[in-house]
This record gives sequence, C-alpha cells and structure tokens, in this order.
Amino acid sequence: MIESTLAHRTQDDVASVTHDLENGGVRIVIGTFLDNSGVFRAKQVPGAKGGSFHSPGLGAAPSWAVFAIDDQLVLTSAFSVVGDMRLRVDLDAIRNLGDGVAWAPIELADQHGRPLGHCARGALRRHQVAFESDGIETLAAFEIEFTCFDSVTGRVGDGPAYGLGPLLDRSKFLDDVHESFAVAGLMIEQLHAEYGMGQIELTTEPASALEAADNYVLARIVLGRVARAHGVKLSFSPRPVHNGIGNGAHLHVSYSRNGEPLFSGGNGPHGLSRDGAAAIAGLVKWLPESMGVLAPSLLSSTRLQPGNWSGAFACWGLENREAALRLCEATPGNTRGANVEIKCVDHSANAYSAAALILGLSRRGIQEELELPDEVPMDPGSLSDDERTARNIVTIGGAQASNIESMRSSQVVRTILGDVLVDAMVAVREHEVELASTLSAEELIEKFRYSWSV
Ligand code: GLU
Ligand code: MG
Repeated sequence: MIESTLAHRTQDDVASVTHDLENGGVRIVIGTFLDNSGVFRAKQVPGAKGGSFHSPGLGAAPSWAVFAIDDQLVLTSAFSVVGDMRLRVDLDAIRNLGDGVAWAPIELADQHGRPLGHCARGALRRHQVAFESDGIETLAAFEIEFTCFDSVTGRVGDGPAYGLGPLLDRSKFLDDVHESFAVAGLMIEQLHAEYGMGQIELTTEPASALEAADNYVLARIVLGRVARAHGVKLSFSPRPVHNGIGNGAHLHVSYSRNGEPLFSGGNGPHGLSRDGAAAIAGLVKWLPESMGVLAPSLLSSTRLQPGNWSGAFACWGLENREAALRLCEATPGNTRGANVEIKCVDHSANAYSAAALILGLSRRGIQEELELPDEVPMDPGSLSDDERTARNIVTIGGAQASNIESMRSSQVVRTILGDVLVDAMVAVREHEVELASTLSAEELIEKFRYSWSV
C-alpha cells in the first residue's frame, strides 16, 4: 500500500538515505520530471545532497508545467511568471544506475511541502491509492518501441522485421542495454527488432501502476545513457521516419481483488469478471475523449492509423491487434495472467498522466457498473463505415486539434486528472497545433524526431 501523497521523511531517515547513497558510491542524484509535452526535464545534486532533493526539494518555476516541445513557455493564468514550487524526489523509488549515478522520480509540491494538483505522478499515486482502498491491486507494464539512428550519419538501422540481423548489427549497444538495465535493477522480459527499420522493442517486468510508470521512465533514461556511449541516437517519436512504422508505448494493465484477477476466472466473455468487464467498458466508452492524454502530440495521428497495429479503433477484442484494447487471456502461454493492452498510447504522452487516466477510467467503469460492449473479433478496418457505426466502433486517430477539444470539454477526464493538469496539457498541445500549421508531414517528422528523446 502506498501513501496518498509523497510523505516527508524524518531528518534522521533522510540522513540515513544520504549515508547509504554515499556508501554506495553515488556521486550524483538525478531527479526527473516528465512534463506535459512528454519531455524529460531534470535537475541533479551531489550524492551528499540527495536528502535535500527529497525534503524540502529543489526550486523551480511553476511554468515547468507548460514547457512545449520547442521549449517555448505557454504561460496561462495558472502558470505565469509568478510563483515557485519544489521538485521533490521520491526516495522510495531511488535507483542506483552505476557509475556513481542514482536516479529518482520527482513529485511537485509548493514551498510548504504540500502536493500540487498539476503533478502527473501525484495523480497516478492518487488513483492507485483509490483502487487500493477499494481492495483492488494494479499490475502494469509499458512496451517500449524506439528507432535507432546513427548519431553521426543520421542513417536509420536496417531490417528485416523481427530479424536477427538488426540485433547483431547493434550487438555491443544491446549487450550494454541488458547489462545497464540489470545494474539499475530493472529486468528486461524480452527485446526484439520490431517491424520498422531500425526499430527495437523491449518490455520489462510488470509492477504496480506507479512503479510501472517509474520503470518506464527509468528504462528511457538507461536507454538514453547507453545510446550515447555507442554513437546511437534513439527516436521515441510516434512517427520517426516518413513512410515508416510508428513507435508505440502500449500499456498493459490487470487488476485483482484479494488475489483474484478481474480479467479471468469470471462468468463473462473469455472469463472476464463483472468488474473486469465493466473496467473494459469504461475504457471503450471514454477512450475517444482521452486521446489528448494518450496520443497527444502533433505526430500522434500520423502513427495512430488503421493497419499499423497501433489501436486506432475504440473497441476491444481477444488478441485483436487492431483494437485499441487487446484482451490477452489467462492461458498457460500467458504466465502473467489475463491483461488488457491499451495500444493507442505513444511516447509523446506523459506516462504518469496516461496511466492515471487508464486507472481512473477503469475504476469509473466499475463504479458505474457499465455493460461490456460486444467484442470486435475481426480487423475493424476491414468493416465499412456503416458496419463500424452499427457496432459503435469509434475511430480515434483524429486530428490533434479535435483531440484537444474533446479532452478540454471532457468532464470525465477533468474529474480524473483535475482541471489544473488538464488545462496545462491543453495549453502545450494547442501550441503544437500552431507549430504544425505551417509544416508538411515530412517536415514535422524531421523537425520533431528527437523531441521525446532522453
Ligand atoms: N509499432 C506499432 C505501434 O505503433 C505496434 C506494433 C506492435 O503491435 O507491437 O503501436
Ligand atoms: Mg511492438
């Protein structure tokens, strides 16, 4: 059970963590803040100062919440030039990355140490706690797809899809990836060359939702460190190359109550329990107004298209790779048990906000006892528009501007994430609409290829 806010540790406790860091050879503690544009911002302190990064934390302007992908500040009345906040690392989540460097995720507080409403990690923490207070445990993991470019020539790696060749071409880099993940205490479950040129995917072991989002961030940081040492530049863009395959950040989730899974062992389709079915119903119902959070950037819709296995249709189906919600059943081949893969998420999303929203929608579906819509057992893209309408299948790869508008006016999204966080997301994404307005698709892909890289 985690606490509902990031508690302040006692001075003794902080001193002992600092002592341990120094004994572990930690010279530098890096704290990261994943912002509302999906960009990693960071500060670092010497190991001996690790405790003060937790409490009281380091100062930063509230406008960190409204940094856009081009580093413009999109100031609003809530996020102006006035004010100050504290960046506080969560010492429960600190990891030693080796080479004298430790990392921890940041939560936002005011100068009195009180949590701030626009903190995405705080929002995820709240939703996990809410689920836990209903007696429901969460288990989650992100799939991480990325594309490798040569940092000198800019050349993208070769295929073939799922091939051995791309793994051997990059074997030194990938050896180091495995080793560095192990040092950071993050177990890689599998790694393979994906369908796109130069594209790699890796997955890490599942954990509670908050830990899963932290693991995602940690993985991104480790990859960024290792890539630099091997002359590789990694793109996490939803569309890294023109006429190529997109990078997804699919989120797998499952829920259990008193050890009993909600997505298996029940009387519903494929063993779904009543609550498991209602959770999926909530996701199907509110996904269309959630795209400003889950696939929010100026390049997201170029990825989220039918035929890309990116989940461009708000529907669910057993092992259906074109449905936004792919149900993975509890079979002997599926040792982690039944789970739902939310495929429409990409790396331009803030992983904490995305996971908080997914938990919130699932929980609301359960609370409202929603009816599970019919399963879609085929490729929704193979149906005509009329057939999709008859089955209530909504296409979700729409224009960024309309996704922002749907998010802005969604009472459900606002209730789950809070107005102040939603308004910050609206501000930075509206700025992206403006940025995109004068550029062709090719220019956008080139210009923002590394915007979400670490
Ligand atoms: N690259 C695809 C995407 O953008 C996903 C392919 C897969 O199913 O792994 O989401
Ligand atoms: Mg994949």
